[in-house]
Amino acid sequence: MTAEPLALYVHWPFCVSKCPYCDFNSHVRATIDQTQWRDALLADLAHEARLLPDRTLTSIFFGGGTPSLMDASTVQAVIDAATSHWQPTGDIEITLEANPNSVEAARFADLAVAGINRVSLGLQSFNDKALAFLGRAHSASEGFAALETAQKNFRRVSFDLIYGLPGDTDDSWSMTLAQALTLGTRHLSLYQLTIEPGTRFASMVGKRELEPLDADSSAALYELTDAMTSGAGLPAYEISNHARPGQESRHNLTYWRYGDYAGIGPGAHGRRLGMRMVRHKKPENFLSAVKRNGHGISEEASLSPYEAADEALVMGLRLAEGVDADAIAGRFGLGPIVNWPKVDQLVASGHLTRTGSRIAPTAAGRLLLDHILGEIAVVSPISAAVELMPESVAAA
Ligand code: SF4
Repeated sequence: MTAEPLALYVHWPFCVSKCPYCDFNSHVRATIDQTQWRDALLADLAHEARLLPDRTLTSIFFGGGTPSLMDASTVQAVIDAATSHWQPTGDIEITLEANPNSVEAARFADLAVAGINRVSLGLQSFNDKALAFLGRAHSASEGFAALETAQKNFRRVSFDLIYGLPGDTDDSWSMTLAQALTLGTRHLSLYQLTIEPGTRFASMVGKRELEPLDADSSAALYELTDAMTSGAGLPAYEISNHARPGQESRHNLTYWRYGDYAGIGPGAHGRRLGMRMVRHKKPENFLSAVKRNGHGISEEASLSPYEAADEALVMGLRLAEGVDADAIAGRFGLGPIVNWPKVDQLVASGHLTRTGSRIAPTAAGRLLLDHILGEIAVVSPISAAVELMPESVAAA
């Protein structure tokens, strides 16, 4: 019998500064004791490994925060421990999110030696004014230099861009995207700027100091993005993620295809053996919990078959490949989980495609996913798709 596959997410919660749009679990601290953090992550990892014996490890993802600020020796210690707790696949994907400033780029060679084989670079823009607006700590030229260094050091390099900034137009964004598509990447994460509650941008919007782009312009930019990336051979395989065939993030596919994953580090989410768990978000609370309990978990709950099917549907419909609704129902021992007449209506209106019991959103459907889920799901009230996203699957 083949061992069940497993993905591992590692959250590094520190950044040099806080970006005004960011609602991730990121914190700025004057000093970070790398040894203390290495030991805490290793203890948290050992806890998960005890509960998940005999698994095959398909991917590791270091997200944050800014994990490119981790010492390479800390990264290596986590990789070594993970690949001794679990049997790694021969082609294990080990990704690290990096910010493109010169200090971090100087660490790339060491990170490659430590075992990282894929980097996701937070370029976010090629324009210095836009980078300043986004509160980023790097310039456009530093971004290009970091990309070049990353491409020399890692086999697979993805980068992120944020679009839909106030003042963005079809012309300005198509020029940026055209340039991005010449930079030799086989994976791109393209996120629309969203104003998240609790961020500095949200308070600026409240005070009328910032006016977000209107919904129609945002939708037009999304459609433009879809057309240009498809034309260049990197179609959207998920709402915001584009890749040449075979270059998709295997780690993130595990989330969206509803596989098991262990999550360690502050605020990390995990899903294993029908349970959902989340860890203490604040770094200091996480460290105390690990000291006290040997792990950083703050909440753990079993998922009912309805909740699990609901989540699998929400996550799977983010993907261009969609979901097999009957297979999900069978997996969790349930009757139909979607309203098929409603599905057929949405197929007729051009928002979904259907092949047997497999349903998938069209590009127009991806824009209205929350609404579509509300229409078709019959398992239980649907949660907003974005609330179920693990920490690492978004622009950082
Ligand atoms: S967007 Fe990324 S770099 Fe900026 S504060 Fe958030 S996690 Fe840190």
